[in-house]
Amino acid sequence: MVRLFFAIWPPAATAQALERWAEGARRETGGRTIRAAAVHLTLAFLGETPAQRIAAAIGAARRVRAVPHRLPLEEAGHWAHNRILWAGPREIPAALEALAQSLAAELARDGFALEQRRFAAHVTVLRKARAPHRLPPLPALEWPVEEFSLVRSTLDAAGSRYDVVERFPLSAKSGENSFFP
Ligand code: ATP
Ligand code: MG
Repeated sequence: MVRLFFAIWPPAATAQALERWAEGARRETGGRTIRAAAVHLTLAFLGETPAQRIAAAIGAARRVRAVPHRLPLEEAGHWAHNRILWAGPREIPAALEALAQSLAAELARDGFALEQRRFAAHVTVLRKARAPHRLPPLPALEWPVEEFSLVRSTLDAAGSRYDVVERFPLSAKSGENSFFP
């Protein structure tokens, strides 16, 4: 079995800026910041999956039709139920919503059972966070979304390690192609 999820990764500079911002917020919240290299936005979580199903997951992802777009990160917040501090868009970009929906639909066609929860686009930057009284303002953050990845998560003594299994570029023309599948 392998633990798998689909995600998008920010540019390194953006991930570093988020880590720095989280280090500042940590004075309010305590907890553990996510290191820059691990900062991501999860599109779909497959969880423990038989290794022989990796090919099917890749096949489903290759059928996804979605266009490149920008992901603004304008808001930060704390969720009490899972004690995370997150950054995210004020409104989910339509192209990101479409990407997540297309991916979920293609995975479902191949028999992957995903959670029916609504897609909540957010980037976890700090775990085990207390509710903050106030947070430092977010810096300006650039995130061009040009591909998504299938990622393997391995739990070891040091925590989770993420390894990219396969990348899937978004094509500017795929919006047109989707009329002719
Ligand atoms: P750790 O579990 O060691 O704290 P992690 O949560 O980052 O680390 P995973 O549990 O493998 O590592 O999760 C990988 C990604 O999938 C993370 O973004 C996580 O928030 C998300 N995720 C985990 N479980 C679920 C779930 N049940 N539904 C949706 N997303 C999930
Ligand atoms: Mg987890």
